[in-house]
Formats: sequence, C-alpha cells, structure tokens
Amino acid sequence: METSKAHVALLPLPGMGHMIPFLGLGKLFVTHHNFKVTIFLVSIDHSSQTLSKTIISEMSNELCNIVQLPPVDITGVVDPNATVGLRLSVTMREIVPAFRSSVATMKPCPTVLITDIFGTDAFSVAEEFGMLKYVFSPSNAWILALTIYTPVLDKEVKGEYVHQKEPLKIPGCASVRVEDLFDPLLDRTNQQYDEYLHAGIRLRTSDGVLMNCWEELQPKTVAALRDDKLLGCVLKRPVYPVGPIVTQSGNSSKSGLLFDWLNKQSNDSVVYVSFGSGATLSHEQMTELAFGLELSQQRFVWVVRAPTKESGNKTYLKGRSGDENHDQFGYLPNGFMSRIQNVGFVISDWVSQVDILSHPSIGAFISHCGWNSTLESILMGVPIIAFPLFAEQKMNATMLTEEFGMAVRLEVLPSKKVVGREEIQKKVRKIMVDNEGHGIRDRVNELKYSAKEALCKGSSSYKALSELAKRFEARMQLQNKKAPSPITHE
Ligand code: UDP
Repeated sequence: METSKAHVALLPLPGMGHMIPFLGLGKLFVTHHNFKVTIFLVSIDHSSQTLSKTIISEMSNELCNIVQLPPVDITGVVDPNATVGLRLSVTMREIVPAFRSSVATMKPCPTVLITDIFGTDAFSVAEEFGMLKYVFSPSNAWILALTIYTPVLDKEVKGEYVHQKEPLKIPGCASVRVEDLFDPLLDRTNQQYDEYLHAGIRLRTSDGVLMNCWEELQPKTVAALRDDKLLGCVLKRPVYPVGPIVTQSGNSSKSGLLFDWLNKQSNDSVVYVSFGSGATLSHEQMTELAFGLELSQQRFVWVVRAPTKESGNKTYLKGRSGDENHDQFGYLPNGFMSRIQNVGFVISDWVSQVDILSHPSIGAFISHCGWNSTLESILMGVPIIAFPLFAEQKMNATMLTEEFGMAVRLEVLPSKKVVGREEIQKKVRKIMVDNEGHGIRDRVNELKYSAKEALCKGSSSYKALSELAKRFEARMQLQNKKAPSPITHE
C-alpha cells in the first residue's frame, strides 16, 4: 500500500507567468514536505499547449506530476476580440468539467486544491471531493489587497475609477494612483471588470490565500490583510506570504554562445532587456529601444519578440516569440545587428531568465515589472529600469521605485506613449554609470538579503509554508479516515 502523504493539486492560469510560480510552489511542497504534487495545465489554444507543457515539464525535473487538460473552446462564450484577461477568466471557468473528470480518476483524490485568483470556480470540484480550497496569488500583497477591496470600492465609488480625482484608498495600504490602475478596472461596464469583482468576492470562499511575497517586504500591507479592522474584515481568511518563489529552469546549463559571451564581460557591466513571457512591443517602440540601447554605450542582452502589427504594446499567451515566419531580427533597425556586434547580444528563443540574471556580468534589467521578473531581479541583486506595459505592472513599477527604491522609472508610461531613445539611454546610464545607481544597487542588495532570509528555516515564509503543510497533513489524515470536515478559522 502506498505510504500516505498529502497530495496537492495545483491549477494555475494559462500563461508562463502563472505556471512558473505554481511550479515553484509545487516543488517546495515536494522538497520541504515530501508531498505529492500534481499540476493541471490549462491552455488557451493548441499552439501554446505544447510549448508550455515542454517548458514546465523540463523545469519540473520530474518532481511534480504534470497533467495537461484538453484545450477548451470558448468561442461561443466570449467575443473573439475580448481582452486576454477576459479570455483567461472565462477559460478557467470552462475548464472546470475537464478538471473534475481528471480529479475523479485519481485514487486517492488530492487533499487540497490550490488555484489562481481567477480559478475559484474549480472550488466546486474541491468541495465535491472533500479537498481543502486555497488560492495562490502569484503576485504581491498590494495587488491582492486591491483585488480583495475592489468589491467594497464597487459599492462606494460612483462613476469610473479612472475619472476619480484622488488615488483609490485601500485600508492600511498605499493608495492606488488612477494612472496605475490595471486593465480590469479601467472600464466598469466591461465584462472583464465583472470577472475581477467576482474573483475578489470568491476569495472569501477559500480556506486561505497564499501570495508570492514575504512579510518583511510588505509588512504594512500584510498586516492590513490580517487586521480585522482593516482588510481582514473583508477577506476573513488567513493569508500566507510564502515567497519569494523563484524556480530555476530544469535544463539550464549556463553554456552556449550567450554564456560564452557573458563570461567575457566584467561584473555589473551588461544590461539585460526582457519583457516577460508574453509581451510584445510596437514596431516604433522597438526601434526607439534599439537606438536607446546603442546610445547608452552599455553592453546588453536583449530577449526580443517580433513586434505587434498594430500600434501599442501587447500581451499574448504563447510564451515565446511569434517570429517563426519573419526574417530573423529583420524588424530591428537597419544595420543594428552589425553595429552592435561585440556590444550586444540579441536572442528570440525562450531562455532561462534566472540563469541570465544570476550571471555576475548583469548590472541592470530593463523590465516590464512582471512580478516573477521582479522577484528574480531582487534575488539576484539586479536593479530595474521599470518599463511597465500592462496588467498590474504599473502598480509594481510605482512600488519598486517609490517604496522599495530598487528601480528607476521612465518619465512617460510606455502604455500611454512611445518611450524615446534619449529617455531610454538616460535611464540606462543613470543605473549603469551615474552615482545615483550606487544607492539603487545597495538597496536591491538589502532586499536580496531580506528575500533569502525569509526562505530560511524558522523565517517568515518558511514558517507560513510549514503552517499550511500542517493543515494539509491534518486534512489528509481525516481523508484517510474517510471523514472530511470543514477547516476552522481562528
Ligand atoms: N521567462 C524566462 N525566459 C524568457 C521569458 C520569460 O525564463 O525568455 C520567465 C521569467 O524568468 C519569469 C516569467 O517567465 O519567471 C515571466 O513572468 P513575469 O511575471 O515576469 O511576466 P509575465 O510573463 O507574466 O508578463
């Protein structure tokens, strides 16, 4: 008979930015608590399915079971031109029957379901099979606070949020500037807003909420989430800051042309440029970025994705460049590739960002401020030049600059206006060359030590994960006696 150990089912949103931290969480449950972990992968289309499964399987190192759920057809449910955010939330609802069928075949069935903020419709399956129900927000405490508080704002604020004269107040937390508001909150008549509201309300039906940050990073916000007089009275559920969860790519080798080149560069001398797993820049923005890098006279590694055809910067879900049919880098300015020989390195394939950021030659990161990229930058002690594009990245950029002091910001928001080459070169030199860069580098190093400390035995995130593990084990023992009972909240 198989020895009993708790079995954690993870159901992340499609998209590498969600699957990667879920995988990291799963690996922690396996390595620290000897639990069994199954990750259910949802995909938005066939083309994204194969690639993400390949990357996640490689990164898993066989520590977690990977179950690929069949793609769901949402064409009849949502407009084909709907935003990515809306398509994702609808996909997570439509996947529930397939998820149920898969869980039903598992003997014994998992002990606990941990899903994304937009995955809580799958709680019905957890309830049916006597599983605990948790949410893992692969983001930070401030973003979670806004999600929890939006149902209250919905009742209190009249008219569109974007028309408010004052920043939106969240009890016990930093207020959110109107210009930093993220996509679902920009239009209250849009279905995406309803989905976000629904997600905020459904969080209250969970047994608890995990987030990818650590107490010492956002002490005030974490305290507000727990305080019954502040956000605690809205959520009424325990919160567990379990981060920073950053996971190394399974097949990382730190070899090949890129690493041969990096090995020849001096410490802190190279700017790394990447906009996450799915963002693409407009052609115009890409041109300005290319010239800005050249003008800065700094060495760089740029992970490029073919530009969008329309104006504006976009996100997509494939998790790699869509440039298979283009001339390699033909979209970059004329002569750019030959001018930057020996100075810059341009790649379009999926690369292990953690490996690049951890290389001693990397001295700054031009980043869209996705939360995983931010955590990776902190853990590797690399300052950020904040280039937010969509989702919660504008809030992250504000926090990194004004609260953490580990980033410089652009004068204009890239989501509003093309950032010119002069501005880009100015900000690159500010970190890489000017004295101001030293203070920012010192600050990110302080955060790095705080991050590493949080994960050590006996420290905050370690303890939070251990507390969860105890709850899961207690539930498993109840399941073994075939008498599941609801969890109690102190
Ligand atoms: N990433 C990577 N290689 C790439 C592009 C992205 O390893 O070529 C990883 C990156 O390290 C991070 C994740 O993909 O873990 C991107 O997540 P993030 O939250 O930064 O941004 P998103 O992709 O969600 O916009």
